[in-house]
Amino acid sequence: MYDLIIIGGGPAGVAAAVYAARKYLKTAIIAEEIGGQSTVSEGIENWIGSTKIPGADLAKAFRAHLDAMKSDRLEIAVGERVVTLSRTNGMIVATTKTNREFSSKAVLIASGASRRKLNVPGADKFENKGVTYCASCDGPLFGGMDVAVIGGGNAGFETALQLLAYAKSVTLIHRHKEFKADAVTVEKASAHPNMRIITHAEPTEVIGEQFVTGLRYKDKDSGEVKDLAVSGIFVEAGVIPNTHFAEGLLELDTVKRVKTDPRNQRTSVEGIWAAGDCTDELYHQNNIAAGDGVKALEDLYLWIKKR
Ligand SMILES: Cc1cc2nc3c(=O)[nH]c(=O)nc-3n(C[C@H](O)[C@H](O)[C@H](O)COP(=O)(O)OP(=O)(O)OC[C@H]3O[C@@H](n4cnc5c(N)ncnc54)[C@H](O)[C@@H]3O)c2cc1C
Repeated sequence: MYDLIIIGGGPAGVAAAVYAARKYLKTAIIAEEIGGQSTVSEGIENWIGSTKIPGADLAKAFRAHLDAMKSDRLEIAVGERVVTLSRTNGMIVATTKTNREFSSKAVLIASGASRRKLNVPGADKFENKGVTYCASCDGPLFGGMDVAVIGGGNAGFETALQLLAYAKSVTLIHRHKEFKADAVTVEKASAHPNMRIITHAEPTEVIGEQFVTGLRYKDKDSGEVKDLAVSGIFVEAGVIPNTHFAEGLLELDTVKRVKTDPRNQRTSVEGIWAAGDCTDELYHQNNIAAGDGVKALEDLYLWIKKR
């Protein structure tokens, strides 16, 4: 029986856990891993206080900060995945994949988001055999090769720029005619002699034998199906919020992000707060997630004390 359960070990969850420990709340932080999405980043240049920090080092710093706060009031349950969240007799119960049950007065959902998978034939079969979701992890493996990037947002263009440093060529495929990415990033990538951009095109199949040999796509203008010979396919098709366990309990928006009050991070259910990339917050960044985690904690602390 806890005062607070925090679901998630990214910047939102860890920031809240540090504040909770300092306020002597009996807290459990449940997370599949500590660090969050940017753990795979080569270098984060906007985490305030660090000019540049590899994502893996930021994750280690989060873990060290949590460990420094560890006491009989703070349980760190890493490697656990919350599968259901329910309300019974005024208590909120989080059940994990290993069937552990955590009961609490208050819950902070800070479960972030995961990469949207490429949903075409061959994409699953060739995952890690040419299809990848992490340029900073796998990009160097494709040195001197022709590769494709799927997605015309900032992540797609930033991935392309990263890959241009070592790939023979990079072809970015985007399903719309206009890009979501910032103009300056599009301009920088487009100016590179090894960069090619195909717009208004829909990937339809990943082709390969043991490894990827190509990407089939449909030209949405002509309706023609074309093959692009590539050895690597980097998918940057956006993210989906990790909120499946809260479905039916809380109000979610049309893309299943938790609806929150931006003043205090309260959700539609009393006793449950949410922060970071799992929410309908407009901007998703490490500093914002951490700040929202702290905001939620300050508010829920007062709520717990008034009960
Ligand atoms: C490659 C990459 C690079 C980035 N670079 C930057 C950058 O340079 N600067 C910047 O500001 N932002 C960057 N971002 C964005 C930033 O990483 C996110 O905005 C931030 O991580 C959001 O934090 P969060 O705590 O809300 O969630 P997340 O970081 O997504 O963390 C979610 C946490 O919840 C856990 N979790 C998920 N589901 C469950 C469950 N069911 N049960 C238990 N635990 C669960 C996860 O294991 C994880 O610990 C980057 C993102 C990516 C993908």
